[in-house]
Amino acid sequence: MEKTIALIPGDGIGPDVVAEAVNVLNAIAKKYNHTWIYKDVIAGGRAIDMFKNPLPKDQLDICLRADSVLLGAVGGPKWDNVDPSIRPEKALLGLRGGMKVYANLRPAVMFPQLKAACPLKDEIVGDGLDILIVRELTGGIYFGDRGFASDGRSAYDTEKYSWEEIERIVRIGFEAAKGRRKILTVVDKANILNTSRLWRTVAESVKPEYPDVELNYLYIDNAAMQLVRNPKQFDVIATSNMFGDILSDEASQITGSIGMLASASLGNGKGPGLYEPIHGSAPDIAGKNLANPLATILSAAMMLRYDFKLEDEAKSIENAVQEVLNEGYRTGDIAGADRDAVKAAGKLVGTKEMGKLVVEHLK
Ligand code: NAD
Repeated sequence: MEKTIALIPGDGIGPDVVAEAVNVLNAIAKKYNHTWIYKDVIAGGRAIDMFKNPLPKDQLDICLRADSVLLGAVGGPKWDNVDPSIRPEKALLGLRGGMKVYANLRPAVMFPQLKAACPLKDEIVGDGLDILIVRELTGGIYFGDRGFASDGRSAYDTEKYSWEEIERIVRIGFEAAKGRRKILTVVDKANILNTSRLWRTVAESVKPEYPDVELNYLYIDNAAMQLVRNPKQFDVIATSNMFGDILSDEASQITGSIGMLASASLGNGKGPGLYEPIHGSAPDIAGKNLANPLATILSAAMMLRYDFKLEDEAKSIENAVQEVLNEGYRTGDIAGADRDAVKAAGKLVGTKEMGKLVVEHLK
């Protein structure tokens, strides 16, 4: 298979972690006989420095022409005080909008090897967690009509969803659940919000197409509580933009490390998807060979699975990550309280070594 991949290393640790994901992708290409053609894209702070624009149109066009897009992270203190209209985060919104990716898939996986980093009790997490949160990304209250009264003493934001916007998210939820443990939970606030009632109506209308998937509903307040009380009950969660924003951060915390979590943003499947770690540009450790590249490497695995339909290759990367962790290798962020012991065993590794270990463990 030959595919074009747009690479947006971005700022801070972005280039560090994307370089390792590229090494892993190249090793997969070699093993499984594929060809990846990379196109470099300049976005975020670097693009502000060079073009006074966090996402110039010609750079977005490179992404739109590619088969898939891999992003590191953008932003950093250097650009904290630039004009709000050209802040680095505008590159993310520009990419999501321009690429028309409307569903954000965030697996919240707690690797059993990293249990010590999980803030929940042993009896709650057991042998690990594996939840997939499907968040609506381009609608709802973050995009609705808003304003301030002229005296600045009142303000409003509007939550608005159409049947179509909900249906395409619910479908992704059902499809994902079908290939997993077959439970889809729609999270809403249907006791109060009309939009939430519409989410339920749409989910019910799609349900007959997925007779083997169990569909249930939870109010957002209860879901937030259940995530820390009994997270194992969840398989796939589908929800609106704002509720998904909050729940996915909560879920990432209970898995222990931000440096391990991947994400995919998908549209209707006709254009490229956007794959990125959930962490930011971590300017405190940029360029120091300290960043954990595994979230970006696992994002590349999601790219192979969702954009290129290469399940074996995606699994190969995921299994290699598991093996490297099983053998006790850790970057600083996931060494946790065992840091000294890990170091004494010679298994405290940097960004480059971790990338190399994954490559060596690919089957
Ligand atoms: P952050 O995720 O960059 O860092 C939070 C903490 O986690 C830091 O201590 C950092 O060192 C650590 N960390 C993050 N990723 C790590 C990794 N892979 N390995 C080891 N440690 C890791 O969040 P922040 O500090 O709030 O934001 C820093 C900058 O990143 C800001 O400018 C912010 O706007 C930007 N940001 C970008 C994105 C994105 O590009 N998608 C997302 C969030 C934040």
